[in-house]
Amino acid sequence: MAILAVGSIAFDTIKTPYGKKERVLGGSATHFSLAASFFTEVRVVGVVGSDFTAEHEAVMTTRGVRTEGIQRANGKTFHWSGEYGENLSEAKTHLTELNVFEEFKPRIPKEFLDSEVLFLANIDPVLQRGVREQMPKVKLVGGDTMNFWIGGKRKELGETLKGIDILLINDGEGKLLASDPSLPRAANKILTMGPKAVVIKHGEYGATLFFKEGAFGLESGHPFRAPALPIEEVFDPTGAGDSFAGGFMGYIASQPKITREVLKRAMFYGGVMGSFAVERFGTERIQVLTRDEIENRFQVFQELTRLE
Ligand code: AMP
Repeated sequence: MAILAVGSIAFDTIKTPYGKKERVLGGSATHFSLAASFFTEVRVVGVVGSDFTAEHEAVMTTRGVRTEGIQRANGKTFHWSGEYGENLSEAKTHLTELNVFEEFKPRIPKEFLDSEVLFLANIDPVLQRGVREQMPKVKLVGGDTMNFWIGGKRKELGETLKGIDILLINDGEGKLLASDPSLPRAANKILTMGPKAVVIKHGEYGATLFFKEGAFGLESGHPFRAPALPIEEVFDPTGAGDSFAGGFMGYIASQPKITREVLKRAMFYGGVMGSFAVERFGTERIQVLTRDEIENRFQVFQELTRLE
């Protein structure tokens, strides 16, 4: 099944203990689409300014991502600047320059309306909802958000959540969204807000999937946790969450049916893609990644947790 992804296409200025890079290609939709493109057809909807060049677009088209949904506006592309300290677990945002996002009205090209899976990557929840409403027949909707929107647009986000089947969120953001310091309780509160399932991402410690009773017709509603690969050198964590989401949603979209086993494997593929994303700055690692490398690392993930 093809995935339609809407989200930010950005230039990121990133500082980590390993160095600083100015205005590299980033954005939630970019990282998501590149990761998901290894599993299924991806169609992206977003907005860029006049500083977005043919070379930037080629990063996506080279991976087969369909870019007809990228709108070009007068002005500058969205710019995010952030810094990671020694533990690399959370970015400190220095700057969020919305630029062309201020006036963005997502338009879905006609040829994309048959997409069966929709991913609402991190972006203003009002825009996420606008896209959801243009896709009434979609079969599965995934979504992401961040503290910037939980703090700034909580009410609007509440409305958007009603149209999302699977929410992927960091543990800190999950607790913030549910206003609850207990993670399992926060997850269960989020499950009363609309989503049937929520994936709580724990950065270097993996991710946990919580379900609503009877979600997707599955028998077992027990949560499932997948580990993260212990990586010695995390170069730049930017995009790890979106790449996780790309692997997770991409794998699900490539399967004929949602089963518990498919969801568990999707959690592993999410972890695999997140682990590659952090090995270099921005999108650099995913741009040169191969499907064989993905499968090899998937095996390593399985070994990490297998009981005889
Ligand atoms: P993550 O995968 O969580 O590390 O997301 C990183 C990406 O999110 C970066 O490439 C940023 O361009 C993008 N980003 C940062 N802040 C925002 C925001 N407020 N809205 C949309 N995208 C953002």
